[in-house]
Amino acid sequence: MAEETIFSKIIRKEIPADILYQDDLVTAFRDISPKAPTHVLIVPNVLIPTVNEVEAEHEQALGRLFTVARKLAAEAGLSDDGYRLIVNCNRHGGQEVYHIHMHLLGGRPLGPMLAH
Ligand code: AMP
Repeated sequence: MAEETIFSKIIRKEIPADILYQDDLVTAFRDISPKAPTHVLIVPNVLIPTVNEVEAEHEQALGRLFTVARKLAAEAGLSDDGYRLIVNCNRHGGQEVYHIHMHLLGGRPLGPMLAH
């Protein structure tokens, strides 16, 4: 059984977060330390620690991450200029919170995909 993170508490509304969207499968909330004018995290409500634990049974929730990203990007006026979606995995990916999540970043040119 994977260990819960702070994201489970946000999903259950046990701790505050700026939640922009929630349904039966996913929750989206603003990143507490934004790296761009728009920086939203979209997470499945079920705890999946990393991409390494993804199973076929998660496909509906993980697919929903994209439809919610599209909707929130449109609401933020990002669709035409564009934006970036990122999923980090484990140490080399720079993952800090072990509850799988998609970053939605936009609102300015984001530069090259990798720093180096
Ligand atoms: P990652 O490095 O991909 O695991 O990203 C984790 C992200 O979670 C970082 O961008 C953090 O700023 C963000 N984060 C951590 N704690 C919170 C929180 N309580 N509310 C919102 N975002 C958070």
